[in-house]
Amino acid sequence: MKPVIGIDLGTTFSLTAVLQAGRPQVLANAVGELLTPSAVSIDDDDTVLVGAPARARATTHPARTATAFKRDMGTDRKYTLGGRTFTPQELSALVLGSLKKDAEAALGMEIEEAVVTVPAYFGDAQRQATRDAGAIAGLKVERIINEPTAAALAYGLHERHREMRAVVIDLGGGTFDVTVLEILEGVVEIQSSSGDTKLGGEDFDYAIAELIAKEIETKQKVNVRDEPKAWARLKEAAEQAKKRLTDLESTRVALYDLPLPDKRTVHLEMPLGRGQVDACWAPLLERLKGPINRALRDASLSPSQIDEVLLVGGSTRMPIIAKVMAQHFGRLPLRTLPPDEAIAMGAAVQAGLKAGDAALGDMIVTDVAPFSLGVGSAKKMGRQIVSGLFSPILERGTVIPASREEIFATIEDGQSAITFDVYQGEHSLVRDNKKLGEYTIEGLEPLPAGEHKFRVRFTYDLNGILEVDMTPMKTNKTETLVIEGAPGRLTKKQLEEARAAMSRLKFHPRDALPNATLLARADALFVELTGNDRDDLGHALGQFRLALESQDDKMIGSYRDQLTMAVNRLRR
Ligand code: AMP
Repeated sequence: MKPVIGIDLGTTFSLTAVLQAGRPQVLANAVGELLTPSAVSIDDDDTVLVGAPARARATTHPARTATAFKRDMGTDRKYTLGGRTFTPQELSALVLGSLKKDAEAALGMEIEEAVVTVPAYFGDAQRQATRDAGAIAGLKVERIINEPTAAALAYGLHERHREMRAVVIDLGGGTFDVTVLEILEGVVEIQSSSGDTKLGGEDFDYAIAELIAKEIETKQKVNVRDEPKAWARLKEAAEQAKKRLTDLESTRVALYDLPLPDKRTVHLEMPLGRGQVDACWAPLLERLKGPINRALRDASLSPSQIDEVLLVGGSTRMPIIAKVMAQHFGRLPLRTLPPDEAIAMGAAVQAGLKAGDAALGDMIVTDVAPFSLGVGSAKKMGRQIVSGLFSPILERGTVIPASREEIFATIEDGQSAITFDVYQGEHSLVRDNKKLGEYTIEGLEPLPAGEHKFRVRFTYDLNGILEVDMTPMKTNKTETLVIEGAPGRLTKKQLEEARAAMSRLKFHPRDALPNATLLARADALFVELTGNDRDDLGHALGQFRLALESQDDKMIGSYRDQLTMAVNRLRR
């Protein structure tokens, strides 16, 4: 039987996992890493690079590289890379395709199906776009599940046969999401979610970079932020220091030949202690509380009513995060799974449940609709017609799959057509909600107001994707609305075209990927360095390029090792 894999399709990183002997196992990619950067770049000879080599090119070839396209899923934004245009779905498809190939190599088996995770706040258009991305990549997205639900599955909360409430704290590189869940007999109910799309690990790096910049300013009387190259190196050094301080109480930041705005260069060595950085992060730690309190308030819960606190996302590795959460909730958070792997692991558990993996027993996990869905309607009040009202049909919090129906009628005498506008949201006026699509039924025979009645049925499938059926009660002929009007939504024909276009792209040979990745990383580092370091790297880089041209495997291997060592040494 072909395995179903779990995929965490992230904004900065993606990863895959599969259930093996009842346990989720994260799979390594072609360059031997668990995390594949969600990045796509087009090489100078029009070859597509995905993952680590693409991400390394983001600084050296920004116009040919795309990152963070997950933020644009479900919109009609286009990316132009080296003369080619891509939709966010196509870029995601390239990442999915790369994950699929790597997983196939790791498992030695063909893979056709996957469970893919999305943020709980993803609406219909974003979920559809995610499924389309899978289709373009030749991967059937068997299920789409919410990221916090996946985290709960990874921690096995569904196996505890009792009612429990959990909060998932997801702090990634650039975003912060808080989700309150209730788990009752295998049904995972998202009670509320909140977040800050502009708060993540990068802000913690930035705060440390500010500390270093102040030190330089005091001593050198210049603002190092005015020299973009120096500022970029400061931020990089800050991130490295932040990561070291996860394991150590204190560290040193060393920056040599740092170019200053007044053309001087400076050597800097600065000790950094955990207490000092924790203090400079105080405003950020305070900002975490807003979304947490909002999510709790929306779920009508106090912190003490939460049974488990789950930490996911790379930035929850920082010890201060666990400390702040322990204080806030009055209990120690669960942090036993690697925070950047938990979501993919949960997706693998769901994939196992889907495939009926015997090791998991007959557990069922179900999610709930994160948004209300309904249609725009009008009401006659006296002689006046008030339009633009939102009539919810399927309310948020409904356990999915679900199907609900409402009856609507014409409101004018002789009305010859009726349009159903489909919306997602919680506001009483449609203009405040998100439009998903529309459908018009024409050619109604002239009858008095209210005589034409329509059954409108909303069906929410397990993926949180909507189907709308409209049945005029006079004819009983059901029309199904395929939501295509929404921005970025692809028609069947466009999907096929996108798939064909993808298959025409030229891809970098996978066995050469480690070399391409190293080259791109070394190139990016070369841009950053100056002086002797730059010369050293340039030398190792030149020799590796010559070795590649020689096509002599032994020589390539030996110079690859040398260049890898140089890159690792100089990145510090
Ligand atoms: P994610 O998007 O969930 O992969 O999270 C990436 C973020 O986690 C980045 O901002 C990283 O700097 C941060 N991160 C990764 N490892 C560590 C660590 N050991 N300590 C602190 N932050 C980390």
